[in-house]
Amino acid sequence: MYKPIDSSMSPRFVGPRSFMRLEHIRTTENVDFAVIGVPFDTAASNRTGQRYGPQHIRDFSVLLRPYNYDQDINIFDYCSGVDYGDINVIPGNALRTYDNIVDGLTPVLENDITPVMMGGDHSISLGHLRAFAKRYGPVALVHFDSHSDTWDAYYGEKYMHGTPFRRAVEEGLIDVEHSIQVGMRGPLYGPEDIEDARDLGFEVIPMKDVFKLGHDEVVKRIHDRVGNKKAFVSFDIDFLDPAYAPGTGTPEVGGPTSHEALEFVRSLDGLDLVGFDLVEVLPTYDSGEITAVAASSVMFEMITLIALKKRRELERK
Ligand code: MN
Ligand code: MN
Repeated sequence: MYKPIDSSMSPRFVGPRSFMRLEHIRTTENVDFAVIGVPFDTAASNRTGQRYGPQHIRDFSVLLRPYNYDQDINIFDYCSGVDYGDINVIPGNALRTYDNIVDGLTPVLENDITPVMMGGDHSISLGHLRAFAKRYGPVALVHFDSHSDTWDAYYGEKYMHGTPFRRAVEEGLIDVEHSIQVGMRGPLYGPEDIEDARDLGFEVIPMKDVFKLGHDEVVKRIHDRVGNKKAFVSFDIDFLDPAYAPGTGTPEVGGPTSHEALEFVRSLDGLDLVGFDLVEVLPTYDSGEITAVAASSVMFEMITLIALKKRRELERK
């Protein structure tokens, strides 16, 4: 049973940094969830430096405590979790990085461990989805982002941080009929940037509709869309308004507060969630560690969802 060091017994600034002060160990024995870094950032179209995202999140995740008051559960009553370390990425080569992601994730998924990946730029999600499709077949995608990331190419390059979900549909990795994107906003090249995502088969709730529909209706649409399919959650930190997450590569104003974003993640309870990623944290542009705290809090809610699912499974037995 792996659980965090108790920060009421050992000060949280003591020792090397791992996510949430979990044991930094690469094992698949007696593990329910594994936090895994993917420090790859050379498929970003604007600012880079997301390669330092995982360690930046680890630094501030030492503030996390094991009990989630909002969901009324102590994660480690139901889950054993580790910091599995980082995938050995290949700077400048997305395709070889995807191969390493799939190789790294395969033993984790084969042992029914739920991975919580931290990026890295958003291109890495294609590697994650390749690994998940290999294990489960096409999965439903729940995607929070200010961008659809369904562009075709940048400068003729197909594997960029704005293209992973178009590639994932082309490669048959996503059960697109059960997939949904939430939060799109900001200046576009044209209406086709959103329409293309719909043409690919996604349900898209742009930010202008998120605020009009309200939290409950958006949550209902997510649950109706995903149903009982196995689902992967991809959370781009730029889903948050830059006031709440300045440390990212392509910020877009007019987004949700951190409270609103956390509520959306909490509301995913009940779905058959098999994996998560949190991407695009860029420490160089972070100030006051605002983004790191937001990111580690979103990941805390993701891990809570794993514990809630475990508790439900135990209660059914
Ligand atoms: Mn993105
Ligand atoms: Mn984005």
